Amino acid sequence: MTDIFVKNGFVLTMTGEGVGMIEDGAVAIVGNEIVAVGKTGDLVKEYGEAERVFDAKGKAVLPGFVDAHVHTSNTIKRGMGQDVPEIEWMLKTAAPFTPYTTPEHSIKGTALGVLEEIMSGTTCIGEIGGDMAPVAERVFAPSGVRAQLSNTINEIGPGSRPDARKPYIFFEDVGERKLREAIDLIDTWHGAVGGRITCMFSPHAADMMSGEMLLRVKEEANSRGMMSHIHVAQGGREAIQIDLRFGTTTVRYLDGIGFLDDTIIAAHCHQTTDEEVGILADRGVRYVSCPASIGIIDGITPPLALYLQLGGKSAAIGSDQANGNNSHNMLVEMKVAALLNKTRHRDPTVLPAWKMLRIATIEGAETIGLGDSIGSLEPGKKADLILLNLKVPHMTPVLSRPVRNIAPNIVYSARGDEVETVIIDGKVVMENREILTMDEAKVIEEAQKAAEEVCNAATEDYMNADSHLAKMARRGLL
Ligand SMILES: [Zn+2]
Repeated sequence: MTDIFVKNGFVLTMTGEGVGMIEDGAVAIVGNEIVAVGKTGDLVKEYGEAERVFDAKGKAVLPGFVDAHVHTSNTIKRGMGQDVPEIEWMLKTAAPFTPYTTPEHSIKGTALGVLEEIMSGTTCIGEIGGDMAPVAERVFAPSGVRAQLSNTINEIGPGSRPDARKPYIFFEDVGERKLREAIDLIDTWHGAVGGRITCMFSPHAADMMSGEMLLRVKEEANSRGMMSHIHVAQGGREAIQIDLRFGTTTVRYLDGIGFLDDTIIAAHCHQTTDEEVGILADRGVRYVSCPASIGIIDGITPPLALYLQLGGKSAAIGSDQANGNNSHNMLVEMKVAALLNKTRHRDPTVLPAWKMLRIATIEGAETIGLGDSIGSLEPGKKADLILLNLKVPHMTPVLSRPVRNIAPNIVYSARGDEVETVIIDGKVVMENREILTMDEAKVIEEAQKAAEEVCNAATEDYMNADSHLAKMARRGLL
């Protein structure tokens, strides 16, 4: 018996080289797996009598998006960290909140971020955070979303960063504890809830730990057949640190210690020369680009198109965090990625819509090591798919000739609220924009309360840090 049959849709399978469109297409699901994909007329006899039938006439059906690099706990700080110089972002807009943010606040932030993700069509989240175990239990598992979680490993403790222009002080015991906690997370959560949650290692960044610890984490990962997801060349703060310590750049330092290979997922990579992007591509490093976040925080377009032009094999995009992005919305992220890279290269042919859709689905899944199970609609893959309503003003008209305009309109016109139904691991998680696994109103209310608590407590520190944003607030410009 078929559990779910989706019929009559424009099915973007993401198989082959492009979006793999099947017009008047259907997808049949049994349990948590896709069992058939094809023309509705060809499948309806065998699979049409399903437990649930979704008529996708006038809708696009595509794999859910893979948001490959995310810190959802920061969602309660949305709008509190943009429009400031890069050097101020962490120290003057993010750090003032840290002492007042409890694990409970972070969980409320994550719930809000996950809600926003699902409601805009993301079905797989690559989340990195300080302590993922309670968040996995309280948010990721019950929300129904697919998640790849890692605990950040660094040697940064209180008092590590008294001055951004002097070398950070590392604490070995902090590194040991964080490595142990990261391994505990993996032992408990890798493969949990029927494989919907997986884990990997995440050494924080080259400027936040010793070379010895960095290589140890990579060895721990490799010994388990896992990858390491690390922030690389993430801006001026890191560049100062790496130069102070090693007299070189991040990419050259990492290459010099033999860190770079295809078990590394490098996020950001915007503080790089073209030659260094070539080194990353040559070594087979996988790349997660976060264009909206880095555009806002650093004023730089990360080198997504360049990485691909130089032979980079695996690229994904990520929404990063809400204090500097400011949203977790892959439909917006695809458009920003395409536009910024077109302008960076002064070439409108860079990153066409079909390629952006692939990066946000199948190629993103491959980048984070889940390409065998998700990212495309084909028999044997996990049933992670979304239905997008095309019968709204900004998605009209829907045309098939002389060229199909559905993929371009999804990338350049959609904004998230067209996502009507979300199926993850064979379960209907959102139907007609109603989230079935979370209490939407409660998540919003609790995140609002958590944000107010943190902001009220941090107000003096935040204003004393005197960022550009604080100055704008003082002048009454906001
Ligand atoms: Zn990050």
